[in-house]
Amino acid sequence: TEGLGKTRETLREKLAVVTKGKTEIDDEFLEELENILVGADVGVEMTLDIVEAITLRAKRETYRSEEELNRMLLDEISGMLRDSSLEHPVEFDAPLAARPHVILIVGVNGAGKTTSVAKLASNYERAGKKVVIAAADTFRAAAYEQLQVWAERAGVPLIGQGQGADPASVVFDAVSSAVARGTDVVLVDTAGRLHNKSHLMEELAKIMRVAKKKIPEAPHEVLLVLDGTTGQNAVQQAREFMKFVHVTGIIVTKLDGTAKGGIVLSISRELKLPVKYIGVGEKIDDLQLFDRRQFVAALLG
Ligand code: GDP
Repeated sequence: TEGLGKTRETLREKLAVVTKGKTEIDDEFLEELENILVGADVGVEMTLDIVEAITLRAKRETYRSEEELNRMLLDEISGMLRDSSLEHPVEFDAPLAARPHVILIVGVNGAGKTTSVAKLASNYERAGKKVVIAAADTFRAAAYEQLQVWAERAGVPLIGQGQGADPASVVFDAVSSAVARGTDVVLVDTAGRLHNKSHLMEELAKIMRVAKKKIPEAPHEVLLVLDGTTGQNAVQQAREFMKFVHVTGIIVTKLDGTAKGGIVLSISRELKLPVKYIGVGEKIDDLQLFDRRQFVAALLG
């Protein structure tokens, strides 16, 4: 999570300035608190929730010193930001519970699925894992060729049958081959668009069924790729996918050059899903683990 939360002054320091000499919370104070949180890249929605929680709490409590007031603020803010119900990311070199570990990558076209598959493949490969990519987007023209270029860059094999093939059969081949060769990770790139939405969802369901034929627990992860620049639209898309597939985590892409924390925290909170990775560029190395705990710790200082 390096590079996240570019604030020079920590939240803790900024809060200390506004609580100076104060033991009470008034409207002016709340307004300043709001500005500080938004300025610290907490995100507007999360900020409003935190301010509300603090307002309610301050109605029930009295503070004898500015230190006490400060402690309450930090306690409330970190409690809201750190959501212990959300899993923390697993480093690429950590041992995986199953071999092969099958990861399905889903999302609409253009979100950054193929790029994310390549980035994940490269990271796992560099961490010493044996990886294979399954080209299960057989709908989009040139999807296979695009993936071939990426697979080469990542230095991992690709399994596919070209445009028009049955994606479920591609997945079956890839998983079978992974079982036979002792491959650690199978990354499945899926279609983002078919003739219509129900067809797409049926196809994903079929891919899941076929993977389970080979390995009952597969897929071990379903990662939904969302374009971080599309805001509320991304959340809407996510809800559609979540009706049909059991999504286990999110990848938010295209966060290069934007204020990341706010978007990532609010997507995660709205969907009640962990954001596991963030995409910060178009190159194969431009993927980072998103560690919420670390992010919040850095923010608070
Ligand atoms: P797919 O249709 O979901 O497979 O999306 P692609 O992986 O083909 O990506 C769509 C476009 O987004 C491409 O031009 C990628 O280079 C770009 N892209 C993907 N991830 C990122 C990212 O993290 N940052 C930036 N700046 N561009 C990205």
